[in-house]
Amino acid sequence: MDKEIEKWALHNAVKFQGKANPGAVLGQLFAENPKLKEQAKELSKKIQEIVKQVNSLSPEEQRKKLEKLAPELLEEKKEKKKRELPELPNVHGTVVTRIPPEPSKYLHLGHAMSFLINYMYAKKYNGKCILRIDDTNPDKAKKEYYDALHEDLLWLRIAPDKTIIASQEMETFYKYAELLINKERAYVCFCDKEKVSKFRMQAKICDHRTQNPEKNMILWKDMLAKKYKAGEVTLRLVGEMDCTNAVMRDPILFRIVKAQHTLTKDKYVVWPTYDFETVIGEEITGVTHILRSNEFGEMRIELQDYIKDILGFKKQEVLQYGRMTVHGFETHGRVIREKIENGEVEGWDDPRLMTLKALRRRGIVPETFYELVLEVGLSPTATNLDWSVVASINRKIIDPTTKRYFFVKDPKKIKINNTLKQAKAPLHPEHKEMGFKTIHFDDEFYVQDDIENGKIYRFMHLFNFKDNSYVSEEYDPELKAKIIHCVPIKDAVDIHVLMADGSLIKGKGEKALKELKEGEVIQFERLFFCRLDNKEKMLFVYTHD
Ligand SMILES: [Zn+2]
Repeated sequence: MDKEIEKWALHNAVKFQGKANPGAVLGQLFAENPKLKEQAKELSKKIQEIVKQVNSLSPEEQRKKLEKLAPELLEEKKEKKKRELPELPNVHGTVVTRIPPEPSKYLHLGHAMSFLINYMYAKKYNGKCILRIDDTNPDKAKKEYYDALHEDLLWLRIAPDKTIIASQEMETFYKYAELLINKERAYVCFCDKEKVSKFRMQAKICDHRTQNPEKNMILWKDMLAKKYKAGEVTLRLVGEMDCTNAVMRDPILFRIVKAQHTLTKDKYVVWPTYDFETVIGEEITGVTHILRSNEFGEMRIELQDYIKDILGFKKQEVLQYGRMTVHGFETHGRVIREKIENGEVEGWDDPRLMTLKALRRRGIVPETFYELVLEVGLSPTATNLDWSVVASINRKIIDPTTKRYFFVKDPKKIKINNTLKQAKAPLHPEHKEMGFKTIHFDDEFYVQDDIENGKIYRFMHLFNFKDNSYVSEEYDPELKAKIIHCVPIKDAVDIHVLMADGSLIKGKGEKALKELKEGEVIQFERLFFCRLDNKEKMLFVYTHD
């Protein structure tokens, strides 16, 4: 342990003109091994001694000793090289990537990752990232999801270079459908659902497939003219009925949907299916690279490539990565909706969920997702992350700028005879530049620790006491006081915290909490990080420890 202390004392001294700071050394040791906090008192004493020794050396001697003891610390700067995304294959000219959300659900962490992978690659190559809103399913596209999508993108700091909304490109889809009809690669089919799937299973073609293009064109125009009911007719691709890949057996390219579309209302009834919409969408926006999760499947890719070949489109470079999930969290929209409906969770922003709405509400910052992409985003196998990985990245990012406050859960009252009336406390122990707050108090306090008689304690930032009596004001390692926190009963504020498991904890907080703005993320000393969710109710949402 002595060597360890000496190492950090030397490191700190070299960094700060030959004078090491015992507090910084202690902090470094705790950062390396949080369990040492239990021996804080013993350590402090040892550190004082070693720092004294180290500070008595000349800067040259300090540097020499550190070089011998831990040369890696002298090279720290070089180590901190920025991590980067691996290079993309076949980059010729401008790289264009795409983000293709469907406005039919609230986005979750997995979506954020896939959006960011595409967005970060476009930025890496000074290319373009296209937002393509895949809203060609009138039954599913809902106004609230378009709005939520824009809110989430803004929050993730994704600024697309261009946005296209598929439902605004219907004439383009129709133009390519007619090209296929003229090329005798698409036909209008009146077979019902059961017959279509039966024939596909048996690899049999129906009579409609042999209609001539002129007849198909007339029937197609009738489809567009709203002469048919939903489910009565489809436009199908002339695919390969005997292909082992069932997706290739004359898939449906367009179907009739009579539901009102959020944006186009009843203007269109003939809607493209996913694969066709995707192929055209990527062509008209000039996408060069597609980064997507491998759950998408090779079967669909074969079909999309097939359509591209018929239409003479250029194929994109496709890179697949493993789907990312977080252990223990439900991400399926359908299941979440059920949970909301039967009251298991409160809503889409419930802290038990992994939706971006919920994560934002908890105080997870967007930078965390950028970090996650660099860390695990491109792994070829599926990653089932532990929440602690997300929490640890987020903590590292927010910790240096997060203000500290006192909160006492399950408060117990204690009276301490003292003459002090106020104390000044830093808003962040290591970043005094963030400012100070003044804590006013008399002789009554809320505490959550058990106070034993005969033992000496220190109320963090306030004073030392023993047996309900004031001892001294300044921090003094010689006293070996146990550091605890308190909330002065005078001016105490009622606080509620919504925890990660959906439970609500109650307690008392210090007065300065009332000055926070809604949405601010803070740390409750010795407890956890949280975000002020509702100022009127003084309701916080737990972020992480
Ligand atoms: Zn048919």
